[in-house]
Amino acid sequence: MGARERPSLWRFSLFAVTWQLSFWLGWGLVLAAAFQMRSLTTDLATSSVSAVGPQLLMVAALVIFGELRPVVASDSWAQDGVPISTAFVFATLYLWGFAPAVVLQAVAVLLSEIVQRKDIWKLVFNVGQYVMSVSTAWAVMALAGLNPIVAHPTTALRPLDVAWMGLSWLVYHLVNLAMVAGLAGSTGKTWWESFSEDFWYYTFSTLSVLAVSPFIVAMVLMNAWFVPLLLLPLIAVYKTAAISRHRERESLHDPLTRLPNRVLLQQRVSTTLEEARRDGTGLALFLLDLDRFKEVNDTLGHPVGDALLEIVARRLVAAVRPEDTVARLGGDEFAVLLPDIEHPNDAIEVAGRIKMALTEPFHLEGVLLDVDVSIGIALCPQHGDEAEVLMRRADVAMYVAKGEQTGIEVYDVARDPNSPARLGTVTALREALDRGQLELHYQPKVSLDDGTVVGVEALVRWQHPVRGLVPPDEFVPLAERTGLVHRLTAFVLREALDQVTDWWAHGIQVPVAVNVSMRDLQETDLAGLVAAELDAHHLPPTALVLEVTESVLAQDPGRAVATLRELADLGVSSSLDDFGTGYSSLLLLERLPVAEIKIDRSFVRRLDEADGDPAMVRSIVGFAHGLGLSVVAEGVETSSAWKQLREMGCDVAQGYRVARPMPATAATQWLVERVVRGPAERTGLRVVGGGDASRP
Ligand code: C2E
Ligand code: MG
Ligand code: MG
Repeated sequence: MGARERPSLWRFSLFAVTWQLSFWLGWGLVLAAAFQMRSLTTDLATSSVSAVGPQLLMVAALVIFGELRPVVASDSWAQDGVPISTAFVFATLYLWGFAPAVVLQAVAVLLSEIVQRKDIWKLVFNVGQYVMSVSTAWAVMALAGLNPIVAHPTTALRPLDVAWMGLSWLVYHLVNLAMVAGLAGSTGKTWWESFSEDFWYYTFSTLSVLAVSPFIVAMVLMNAWFVPLLLLPLIAVYKTAAISRHRERESLHDPLTRLPNRVLLQQRVSTTLEEARRDGTGLALFLLDLDRFKEVNDTLGHPVGDALLEIVARRLVAAVRPEDTVARLGGDEFAVLLPDIEHPNDAIEVAGRIKMALTEPFHLEGVLLDVDVSIGIALCPQHGDEAEVLMRRADVAMYVAKGEQTGIEVYDVARDPNSPARLGTVTALREALDRGQLELHYQPKVSLDDGTVVGVEALVRWQHPVRGLVPPDEFVPLAERTGLVHRLTAFVLREALDQVTDWWAHGIQVPVAVNVSMRDLQETDLAGLVAAELDAHHLPPTALVLEVTESVLAQDPGRAVATLRELADLGVSSSLDDFGTGYSSLLLLERLPVAEIKIDRSFVRRLDEADGDPAMVRSIVGFAHGLGLSVVAEGVETSSAWKQLREMGCDVAQGYRVARPMPATAATQWLVERVVRGPAERTGLRVVGGGDASRP
């Protein structure tokens, strides 16, 4: 966070300097002006303009009226309008000079701040700030050699003087803005952000007001009783500016929740991206979608839906930092923009907090509503550095979170259906299936007890024309997400059974295990397909075993269990793969129609580690046996692991210690060498040599 400290220290010093400036210089000027007023009164008494007193009083009254009733301030959405009194202060400046203008300005601001009950430090600052701005305008006038008209009645305005006046307005405006921006540290904005925010609105309205000041001068000189009439155009100027600003704000905010809308969010993302690039920091963009919101709307009606959205908006704002942006994109979609995110975990933590904030039930119309949310996260620079790209990627992540009911997901290019890399692979994979680039390797499973070969597992590979042999981890998950997996499974099943037919014809009667994915169990008639293939190959159901991974059960156990039961009814047994990596409950396992579990190789590997604890594997073996299941250990690489597993009573081993996965010809040769047909009562095959003959 070192990078954050420097700017905040800098902002604090800027704040302190600006404040001190307005205090010492601004209030010093007020004192000087008050002092000068004494001599001025005598000057005015000798002036040739009659009835000076009433004129100055009239203008003073209007200044104070203008300060107390800033037209814009009557609307809650814009409190910092430029008061119309400024026009009268400038008229005073042109007519009677520096001192009355400054004193009037100070009194007016003081009064208005008291009426508005501003904090004392703000009050002190504001008086100083306005006085300094008026003083710099006066300095411009002095530079131009323009004298107060009343004290120098002979002075006539030349065309060039109007230009000088215009310059004085501009200087006044810029000094004013710069001073206010100097306090930006207290609002979390930078000086420049504060200075440039709504710049044109303030410039336009201030200049429009100030442009009336020469007319006030003319009126006072003509007939002071007409002066109040000028209030009307002044108010009109203000109203127009105010209305246009209101419209602009409306077009950037959601009317229901008053949160920024999509347009404003996009603007903020762009600015934050620029800052992140400049400061070398990161940012996070969340897209949120309420789950089951439609149900609320449909059953309880739109007014309740709206009320719910308003509460959600409030909770979201409360769950993030003040410098973060919460926006409503429409419907039940929200977005959160977090600047200064260094690490993905920081973003995930905030997402967790947001989720927590929405888990508390909502009380609405006497009903308790539960609402959940799915959050997609995209990060800069990891996932992109353009607003549009980040929005799209957060959206992709959000759909993954929703679809997989995980709640929070960080964007992952492998799950992005639009990512060019992925599209390339999907198309290529489809072609690979068409062109026969996929092939099967086979890895034996042997009995730990006597080394008998109890089966082989078919493992798919992609013989890629450019990349060479691609392992299944790199394309099976992709196939699973695109539905291409059904074709893949059908291919593997047919290919494996073709091979087994061949082996069986040569007296090698081992069953083959085929891996099937969750979607096979859920979406297709897998049992029908299996039955048809066994039939076509004239093979008994014992020739095939299906391996399903534990994660299958997390999704839709009901459907998966039903399919496995259909398969069991056919006589095809199933095996629970990668056991220990998922979250299957013991209860579910008991109901699950599987004959075997395969302990994941991450557990088996630990048997070889010096400080590895065999207790885990031992208890898995014990408890599986308790349920009447056979236990296979995956990834058995060493004699030590083999021995330990054997002592624990584990049934079957698979791993490099026995054999690596081999192409069909090598596997056939391996099987021919190791396997002879056993005695008639044995259905399996034996490894030649007995004892520890399972050594590869
Ligand atoms: P799996 O079903 O758990 O397969 C076992 C994996 O462990 C294989 O990796 C195998 O090569 C590897 N292995 C075997 N013995 C050892 C060992 O001693 N040490 C180590 N370190 N690894 C060993 P492979 O072939 O890369 O397969 C990875 C995964 O891909 C498989 O895990 C399976 O989930 C999936 N898969 C493979 N073929 C298919 C298929 O045809 N269909 C489907 N749906 N998934 C498949
Ligand atoms: Mg497997
Ligand atoms: Mg496995």
